[in-house]
Amino acid sequence: MLKKRRKGLIASGILALSLAVAMFSPFSASAVTYYTYPNNAKMIGGVGSYGSHLRYYWINPNAQQYKSLITQARDEWVRTSATLTTSIDIGLTTTKSSAVFEIHYESFSPWQTGTFAETRLFLNSSEDSRLPFPPSQNYKWASIMLNGKAFDDASSPHIKLDTQKAVISHEFGHAFGLAHNMGSSANSSIMRANDWYVHKPGLIDLQTINYLYG
Ligand SMILES: [Zn+2]
Repeated sequence: MLKKRRKGLIASGILALSLAVAMFSPFSASAVTYYTYPNNAKMIGGVGSYGSHLRYYWINPNAQQYKSLITQARDEWVRTSATLTTSIDIGLTTTKSSAVFEIHYESFSPWQTGTFAETRLFLNSSEDSRLPFPPSQNYKWASIMLNGKAFDDASSPHIKLDTQKAVISHEFGHAFGLAHNMGSSANSSIMRANDWYVHKPGLIDLQTINYLYG
C-alpha cells in the first residue's frame, strides 16, 4: 500500500519536488495529531456553526454561583480568541429544555478522590441514555458535573494551574468532543488529563474544534 502510493507521487515531478522541500525544510509543519473520541464522536447537530444556529447551555440554580467563571470558560472556546477563530458558538439559556449543555454542581464522588468534575454524554433526550466515557458514537447533549467540595478545592496542589475556570474549560472540551491529550502537544493543551500547564484552551484544542466542526 505504501509502496504503491510512493510510486504515484514520484510519477508527478512537481509533487515529488514539493514533497522533498517539505521533508527537508526545518519550517515545514508537522502533521497535527487531534485528540478526539473513538470514531470522532461529537455532538449531533454540531455546536453552532459560526453562530448561524446557536446551541445553548443552561446553568442549574445550584451552579449559578459559578456563572461568571462558566461565561469566561465559554468565551475562551467560542468563535473568536486571540489564538484562533473557532467555528462553534453557544449561548446561555434559562430554559433547560432548549439546552444541549447543562452545568450542575453537586457531590457525586467523595471529595478525597480529587475528582473536580466530570462530563456525561447522552445518546438521546433520556437521562438513561448516558454513554460510557469516552463515547464511540455521536451524542445529543452533555452534562457537566462540578463535584461539590472537590471542585471548591480546585485550587489545591493537585493541579498546578488550577483555577476552577480551568476545570470548567476542560469539561467544556469534553462536552464538545475532545478527548484527553496524551501527546507532545499536551503541555499546551487544556485537555491534558491532569497537572495542567495552561488554564485555557491552547491552539491544539481550538484546532481540534475546527477539525470536528469546521
Ligand atoms: Zn478530563
